[in-house]
Amino acid sequence: MSNTTEDVAGAEKRSLNFIETIIEEDIQNKKNDARVHTRFPPEPNGYLHIGHAKSICLNFGLAEKYNGKCNLRFDDTNPEKEETEYVDSIMEDVRWLGFQWDKEPYYASDYFDQLYAWAVKLIRDGKAYVDDQPQETISQQRGTPTRPGMESPFRNRTVEENLDLFERMKAGEFPNGSRVLRAKIDMTSPNMHMRDPVMYRILIAEHHRTGDKWKIYPMYDYAHGQSDYLEGITHSLCTLEFEVHRPLYDWCLDQIIETNYRPRQIEFARLNLSYTVMSKRKLLELVKGNYVNGWDDPRMPTIAGLRRRGFTPASIRAFADRIGVAKRDNVIDVGLLEFIVREDLNKITPRMMAVVDPVRLVINNYPENQTEEVELVNNPEDPESGSRSLLFGRELFIERDDFMVDPPKKYFRLGPGREVRLKGAYVIKCENFDLDETGNVSTIYCTYDPDTKSGTGIHQPKIKGTLHWLEASSAVNAEVRLYDRLFVDEDPAGHADKDPIEFLNPDSLKIVTNCKIEPALAQSKIGEKFQFQRIGYFCVDNDSRPEHPVFNRIVSLKDNWTKSNQE
Ligand code: ATP
Ligand code: MG
Repeated sequence: MSNTTEDVAGAEKRSLNFIETIIEEDIQNKKNDARVHTRFPPEPNGYLHIGHAKSICLNFGLAEKYNGKCNLRFDDTNPEKEETEYVDSIMEDVRWLGFQWDKEPYYASDYFDQLYAWAVKLIRDGKAYVDDQPQETISQQRGTPTRPGMESPFRNRTVEENLDLFERMKAGEFPNGSRVLRAKIDMTSPNMHMRDPVMYRILIAEHHRTGDKWKIYPMYDYAHGQSDYLEGITHSLCTLEFEVHRPLYDWCLDQIIETNYRPRQIEFARLNLSYTVMSKRKLLELVKGNYVNGWDDPRMPTIAGLRRRGFTPASIRAFADRIGVAKRDNVIDVGLLEFIVREDLNKITPRMMAVVDPVRLVINNYPENQTEEVELVNNPEDPESGSRSLLFGRELFIERDDFMVDPPKKYFRLGPGREVRLKGAYVIKCENFDLDETGNVSTIYCTYDPDTKSGTGIHQPKIKGTLHWLEASSAVNAEVRLYDRLFVDEDPAGHADKDPIEFLNPDSLKIVTNCKIEPALAQSKIGEKFQFQRIGYFCVDNDSRPEHPVFNRIVSLKDNWTKSNQE
């Protein structure tokens, strides 16, 4: 973006992105009666991903900001790959992100009759012709950016012949791929997209909405601008690769526009995320090849996957906001997304005790058959969240890696002779431990000081380490799914000679079945989110049942990835 607009616009305008600047100028100039009407136009050939979320936040966000409207339009011009399952999932995802489209969803297929009528008009005006050549020949004749194309021998057919053939294409008289309708523009144009682009192709396929009514289908470039026009769209936002299509977008509109109203295409940089693949085609391969467990696998960058994983809509919207819109392609560190998710979850999730890899701990001097309740703050970040009580007793579980037989000096957790505080309870000292026959620690023996109870005890020594714990007889078993990045490579789709599959992270899912959780956690509902203290943020999975609780790790508490992978 040039700085001039910003420089003269003054401090207040400085925060506008380049699209907002355009929109504000259009409003000032009363262009299109100063209306703002955007659209989000997914093709229903897969589930939406986080890149689409950027586009959704942008389109719906601008409509909100400028008191305008935003349509949801299914760009369903390719019946071979489209399904109602995808239509439904897209609607669910947009709503979940917190947006509401204007009126009912629109479908490009609703415009097939009008688009056909306009194509007939193009033929009548001498601006389109039926080409009988196979696709390969048409491609060869297209030339290269530095070499002009060749005109098709069918280019100068009479209007009558074109009308007759086009109608018969529509009637299904010709086989798949045998003829196309092309715009008659300019085979020498420096812009390859203007070299008589294909507008209609023959495709004998069942369409998810129009059934077998149509034997010909419009191409994206023809359908898109005309659909924008039919819906009264003012600002048609798309990703950068469509910049070279813009002259064609405008050419198509030129053929039909009779009033002052006109949609405008504006391109912005697509979202690319490190350690992620983001094309629906590649995501479909992961699903079809069973490399993941469906479109909503919590490792997928799909909105359905992120939702199941436990990401909140607020954090995805905040992420879209933080990355902004640019005019040049870039790659966003997936760590930024995780950082924002943590920031959000830190504010809203209760802190709970869960022991992912439990080891037994006995307090020798705590009376047998005695238990007591200790009071724990639910969320120090949220004073409204209150507190709860948790059972404490002689036998506990602590995290296996919170104990070392021979710890180094700076290890502020438990080891022979060392002292730690048990969160919300007492200070304990390790006296001894048992090993099982394989050499693993099986039980840790401690003593406690009854005067050190958190908050109330008369003796509050300064202790560096605080551990989470659970009372053994009341703790509930749970399954915990520890998710990690799906790919180990920063740019898995960026290797010309290698498939992203080759870079799948073999440790992207670890299932731990003998975790211990607070009894209250077993009653939580699907989708509920918690911080497991000192471990990370977790969400109740769809598979969870009260008799078999299942939790997904959303993110760890800190970014371990960057550290461990730079060593
Ligand atoms: P993919 O290449 O992942 O299959 P697509 O562009 O084919 O995506 P569409 O359904 O055609 O998917 O996209 C709907 C809208 O979402 C378009 O306006 C498109 O520009 C936008 N979009 C798609 N991917 C991204 C992305 N990574 N970043 C921002 N916007 C995107
Ligand atoms: Mg597409």
